Amino acid sequence: MRAVTQIWKNPSDYLRVNQPENPVLFFAPSVLYAQARLFVTGFPGLVTYAVKSNPQEMVIENLWMAGVTGFDVASPVEIRKVHAIAPTAKMHYNNPVRTPSEIAVAVACGVVSYSVDSATELDKLIAHVPATDTEITVRFKLPVAGAAYNFGAKFGATVEFAAQLLARVRDAGFIPSLTFHPGTQCTDPAAWQSYIEAAAQIAQKAGVRIARLNVGGGFPSHREHEIVPQLEATFALIARVTDQAFGADRPALVCEPGRGLVGDAFTLGTSVKAVRDGTHVFLNDGLYGALMECHWVASVDRVAVFDAMGQRRMGGTSPRVVFGPTCDSVDRIPGEVMLSDAISDGDFVLFESMGAYSWATNTEFNGFGALALAQVLSLEL
Ligand SMILES: *Cc1c(COP(=O)(O)O)cnc(C)c1O
Repeated sequence: MRAVTQIWKNPSDYLRVNQPENPVLFFAPSVLYAQARLFVTGFPGLVTYAVKSNPQEMVIENLWMAGVTGFDVASPVEIRKVHAIAPTAKMHYNNPVRTPSEIAVAVACGVVSYSVDSATELDKLIAHVPATDTEITVRFKLPVAGAAYNFGAKFGATVEFAAQLLARVRDAGFIPSLTFHPGTQCTDPAAWQSYIEAAAQIAQKAGVRIARLNVGGGFPSHREHEIVPQLEATFALIARVTDQAFGADRPALVCEPGRGLVGDAFTLGTSVKAVRDGTHVFLNDGLYGALMECHWVASVDRVAVFDAMGQRRMGGTSPRVVFGPTCDSVDRIPGEVMLSDAISDGDFVLFESMGAYSWATNTEFNGFGALALAQVLSLEL
């Protein structure tokens, strides 16, 4: 079922007319299209979309139509969804722990690539996946800083162990490749450099010429005013470092952005339930809703306050403690948020760059979380 029935000019237009009680995610397909083209034309290899970051069908459809031909999937549900929308898309199953029945779904739906970071999971793939024309990418990790969130804490083999796995992948007849994830909202391009250089060392240690190097997701969105994503510069660095590190054995490149593709295509519209006793601001959405990520990823500081008539409140701002609507004390945006001094009950607070890990992780805890969707021509505030 589609929640979207009408296209609005921009978020404030919608808020003024509808005065929504519930939080709203505003989606601008034009922004998603432009971002997809930036990746597809700028990245020096294959662009695949990490479906988990925003698994809505309209996102997958829009990316597919914009020329994104690959999808990073993590579960049978995601596999079937992508397969139904884009049957000829290339699916990469890059959740490195799978049951035999999950693997069977992947095989039946034509998944072309699987990641692995353990010997026992590689045994499973060898037992259940036909090797012909199928790639296995060994996922490795480094102790690298730079991202908002350490992805190596759960998955990734050490450099030494990755070399052993890679040799086994080749010996079993699969297409041998390597992958890593530098960590989400990774604003330091140098992180990719360390990983790419380590990949070359792993391949050399294993005595394997890798077919492809998947440089992960991690590409940042514009969550913070001061930190403007440098995607083109990062793409250029990835191409240059790969050439230097691998020379004649240069593998084809793959990336699998989630946030970097969808983040900036959505803005979250919340409303002010109360400015309690003139100090704390209570919103109708919070950490159990679309703002869940604020616990561990740099919080969004691209925030604007609109009055009930849809006019942006200009003038002075000051730091406020901001709570979500549930009764749980953890339901608070970490730190303080700079908000208009004139903020009042019934105002709207808009958070930009909220396309990733918002719709996907929204819960209905305490009876909240009825997140609406509205399509807009522009996200300009
Ligand atoms: C989550 C994830 C991604 C996407 O990460 P972003 O930081 O959103 O770009 C890509 N690949 C894998 C394996 C992931 O787990």
